[in-house]
Amino acid sequence: MAIRACIRGFQSSMQLVIDVDATNLKCKYKGVLFVANAFDGNRNIYPLAFEIGDLETDASWHWFFSKLHEVIGECPNLVIILDRNISIENVWHNIFPTAQHGICFYHMKGNMKRTFKLKKRDKLLLYFEQAAKCYGITKFDHHFRKIKDYTSGIELTWMDVDTIKRRDFALKCTSTLHPDFGEKKLRHRLECASRMNVVKLNHVEYNVVDGDMDDHVHLTNNTCSCRKFQLEQLPCKHVVAVCRFLKLNVYSMASRYYTRNTWLDAYSDTIYPVQPQELWVIPEYVQSRVVCLPNAKVMPGQ
Ligand SMILES: [Zn+2]
Repeated sequence: MAIRACIRGFQSSMQLVIDVDATNLKCKYKGVLFVANAFDGNRNIYPLAFEIGDLETDASWHWFFSKLHEVIGECPNLVIILDRNISIENVWHNIFPTAQHGICFYHMKGNMKRTFKLKKRDKLLLYFEQAAKCYGITKFDHHFRKIKDYTSGIELTWMDVDTIKRRDFALKCTSTLHPDFGEKKLRHRLECASRMNVVKLNHVEYNVVDGDMDDHVHLTNNTCSCRKFQLEQLPCKHVVAVCRFLKLNVYSMASRYYTRNTWLDAYSDTIYPVQPQELWVIPEYVQSRVVCLPNAKVMPGQ
């Protein structure tokens, strides 16, 4: 099932990143709930589609991805975030062959915790989190080395989203960007940028000096050597410093996905409640369909 208001909001106002997942249902009929979510510019979960099936198999994931493709269509530069379920890995690229994929940080962390029987504050989880949140290869290698050293002795073997509340919040919001994410980050970066020195290299390239650290900003390529600008699509502190130096509006450098207007647009369609059953107008081709209960098996431990 996919709600039109959410599909339209995704197509017009979301970064093309979809997280897919499934969970076992514990209700009377059992089965598995398959879900696909996007994220709005304020890092809220934005529901796209869900389905109830019997088991997490190649066939059920194939059906779910096919239906998802029917509603969202071809999306250039789409990124799909997966847990490491083998059936998802077997089928997703057949339906979205041009999409990139990533592994869900949260699931991977959970797997590590279970596999190594780690406590919540174990250093390994901290190192993993630091590595996963790096923007550059050098820092990633540094944190990943710490993971390797630490594990050297171990053998490595629709939800309840309140769209009305969010729309009201966006309407009341007076900032240019989402208050909890983009605006917060940018304000902090404006403070940091005030102590930096900017050296012009040519009309598009600038060297930004922060204490004993140098970073290189290229305005035409929209890049900074710290890589935050190109990965987040939000000005890093070095780009903010260049904007101050050139008296440019720093907000104009942020992706439209972070703006209050895009956020408002994502929640602008109304989702109406389902009417009483006697008022439903059901097409004949739907009425004639037989829908069976999921052929669910209770998995061990449930
Ligand atoms: Zn930077």
